[in-house]
Amino acid sequence: MDDAQENLSDAPHRVGQRVAAVKVLQSGRAEQHAEHRYGSRLPRLWWVFLGRRWVPLPLQCFLIEHRDGLVLFDAGIDPAIVSDRRYIRQAIGRFLLPRIFRLHLEASDRIDHVLAAEGVGARDIRTAVISHLHFDHCGGIAQIPQADLLVSAREWEILSQPHPERDWILREHIDIPSTKWRRIAFEPTDDPLFRGFDGIHDVAGDGSMMLLPTPGHTPGSLSMLIRQEGWDPILLVGDLTYEVALLEKDIVPGIGDGETLLASFAKVRALKDRLLGLTIVASHDFGAAAAVARATRRDMTQERT
Ligand SMILES: [Zn+2]
Repeated sequence: MDDAQENLSDAPHRVGQRVAAVKVLQSGRAEQHAEHRYGSRLPRLWWVFLGRRWVPLPLQCFLIEHRDGLVLFDAGIDPAIVSDRRYIRQAIGRFLLPRIFRLHLEASDRIDHVLAAEGVGARDIRTAVISHLHFDHCGGIAQIPQADLLVSAREWEILSQPHPERDWILREHIDIPSTKWRRIAFEPTDDPLFRGFDGIHDVAGDGSMMLLPTPGHTPGSLSMLIRQEGWDPILLVGDLTYEVALLEKDIVPGIGDGETLLASFAKVRALKDRLLGLTIVASHDFGAAAAVARATRRDMTQERT
């Protein structure tokens, strides 16, 4: 593939001094079936009932300190999902949830408390990019009513389809009056860096935070490319994969659309070939914090002292 040879990472207009920090925020812990993460030979979703091995996964989102204001990539989970019996309205959803995820959440895992622990007020969040509309990625939106919530137009369409809750998109916790949703239609680009992607969206207008459609986990899932001078570029991929190593090996999880996931994996790997040092970071990957620290040259051993 000839564009694999092409290295566009040094193009000077594409990076600048716009992003001061990227922080990985922990918003609780969970467990999932091994088949959920690594895929399964069983017919679709049989693992929900037949799976016997649970594996831990962290619930994470990301805080980006941009010159124009604070940006979240995803807004965490609302701990009310385990403490309030009516959080999920449909009985079938309440029945299935503990069979798909074991959630270990405290009140302090809500996004406003998670941010406070970082010394940040929830009211100071200017923008939240929502990778997709699953409850563990947009559960904190009620705590940031002032923020622009960016979601792909394709993802938002799911809300008007029958029974989005069957795909764990809980309309009553998403389309709420206090929130400021902005639906993103990706714009076409002739930038060779983004070849293969169905458009881009520049969040701040300076190239530092570029949204890219990476469907498969859900139809409207997106990723965000962060570029800052002196750092390796970072691609936050949400739930495109549960572990970056699985994406590298074309191992699709036991959920989502397999073919669409593989197509998105290929696009992301092609981007990595073109963008030297690209660090791919998945939301539920235990390696996320170390990967971000490496990419931003932060010394974690010093941080602990
Ligand atoms: Zn998730």
